[in-house]
Amino acid sequence: MEKSIWQKDRGQINFDILSDKMSTDVLIIGGGITGLSTAYNFINKKYNVVLLEADKFFTGTTCKSTGKLTYLQDLKYQDIYNVYDFETVKLYYEAQKDGIRLAKKIIKDNNIDCDLTKTESVTFTKDNKEIKKFDKEKEILDLLGVKYYNSSSNIKDDGIKQVILVKNTYVFNPVKYLKGLLKVIKNSDNIKVYENSRVTKIKKEDKYYVAYANQCEVKAKKIVVACSYPFFTIPGFIPFKTYIEKSYITATKVDESKDICGITSNYPTVSFRYHSDKNDNYFIYLNNSSKICDKLNYKKNYDECVKKAKDITGKIPNYKWTNMDVMTNDFMPLIGRISEDDKNVFIATGYNTWGMTNGTIAGKILYDLIRNSKNKYEKVFDPTRSMNIIKFKNFLTNTVLSNTKAYTFNLIKKNPSWYKNRACVTKVDGKRVGIYFDKKGNKHMVSNICPHLKCFLTFNEVDKTWDCPCHGSRFDVDGNVVKGPSCYNIKIDETK
Ligand SMILES: Cc1cc2nc3c(=O)[nH]c(=O)nc-3n(C[C@H](O)[C@H](O)[C@H](O)COP(=O)(O)OP(=O)(O)OC[C@H]3O[C@@H](n4cnc5c(N)ncnc54)[C@H](O)[C@@H]3O)c2cc1C
Repeated sequence: MEKSIWQKDRGQINFDILSDKMSTDVLIIGGGITGLSTAYNFINKKYNVVLLEADKFFTGTTCKSTGKLTYLQDLKYQDIYNVYDFETVKLYYEAQKDGIRLAKKIIKDNNIDCDLTKTESVTFTKDNKEIKKFDKEKEILDLLGVKYYNSSSNIKDDGIKQVILVKNTYVFNPVKYLKGLLKVIKNSDNIKVYENSRVTKIKKEDKYYVAYANQCEVKAKKIVVACSYPFFTIPGFIPFKTYIEKSYITATKVDESKDICGITSNYPTVSFRYHSDKNDNYFIYLNNSSKICDKLNYKKNYDECVKKAKDITGKIPNYKWTNMDVMTNDFMPLIGRISEDDKNVFIATGYNTWGMTNGTIAGKILYDLIRNSKNKYEKVFDPTRSMNIIKFKNFLTNTVLSNTKAYTFNLIKKNPSWYKNRACVTKVDGKRVGIYFDKKGNKHMVSNICPHLKCFLTFNEVDKTWDCPCHGSRFDVDGNVVKGPSCYNIKIDETK
């Protein structure tokens, strides 16, 4: 799969693979910003903690993000206001500010070299129809006491109709940040960390939960599900509360870096930032965002993103990659106890593409809840919060329609024209299979059905993967799972 600009900074660090059964107070599943931020809070505390990462570290959503640490998040405050009320907006805003403060403190306290740079953040639009929304967002920012500006000397484009600019926001290198976190976590005697250890099942026993990974059992009193999209449906019914959004990103070497990052208010999102490391400056550009059921011609999407980045910079991008995140129908993350019945299972997901702040603060919220301490954000982010009319409407248009679309597209149009002769979906012995022919003409045949919730898979000819257009699982052409939520592969002999 294509790697992000940050993943070049991974280095050669390896961790143990879980190979023995064990018992622990807290099991954290997933080693992205959520899992590592949660583990960070437990350093040198009286709890024993085990953290299991399915893959190698630094492969998840965090490491493919644009790495902005900002409280100006498109027009998020009015989105939340339209579903809830000003109190909820205020708490969300305070959580973002706390997330930034906390990340900065962690970086400072531990001397983490992650290219943290103070920058301005803008939300902008070129669409006249968006203007009223900007007025509304500014009203809310006024009520929140946020100082903002209506223009930026850093973005000069005649087509831009509206700008909101705030200062005191940051960008960083998310892989270097996670590497720094992991370094301090693994030095703590009470925390054990394993990679290549995918949890495939959780079972509730008397006073414990038992998680299974690499055919080993981990008995835990409390479980934190920090794997972005959970691999199970019950408890929590997360697939019914969320949908997935996907975007295409490029990084291009440029002569000059500017202290600004930005995002459009309207869909499909365009987002940008600059990044400077010791040797080079880069312009990072994101576009072609969509629900994952849409825009299934992956090569076309990549090509469009690359072309746009080239038009802006005059250069061919040095990196290109895709990323997807979990979206909620009420624009608020899901952080806390996963269900009324499972008070010792905790989840943090649904960051709506703003996980650097939300993932950081989630670590603190979950730490407090696990210790039965109060946290001021507990109620607003509660994953069991109830439905309301707007949320229900969004649930129908986002979650239900998305999945129906993904199912029917692949049912009706099994072999879209862009597969050409490289891949096809067909039936063999009555089973739906996907076949890919490599450059040497070798045939790679896999099941075409995702083991997670039985969606049909589409072929991604750029990454050479079979991708689930419903919930985002990905498999290589030989059927190995390369990204969850599925924890099972799609090799033919194993799906009989
Ligand atoms: C295109 C794009 C750009 C973004 N840019 C920004 C940005 O600039 N600023 C911002 O704030 N947010 C941004 N986000 C959002 C942010 O990246 C995510 O919300 C955040 O990284 C999610 O963190 P996480 O730790 O929950 O998930 P991840 O980083 O995905 O970590 C989850 C980990 O769990 C592991 N895992 C999965 N299943 C299992 C299992 N069964 N057993 C064990 N481990 C498992 C995975 O391998 C993974 O390493 C962006 C998102 C996208 C899609």
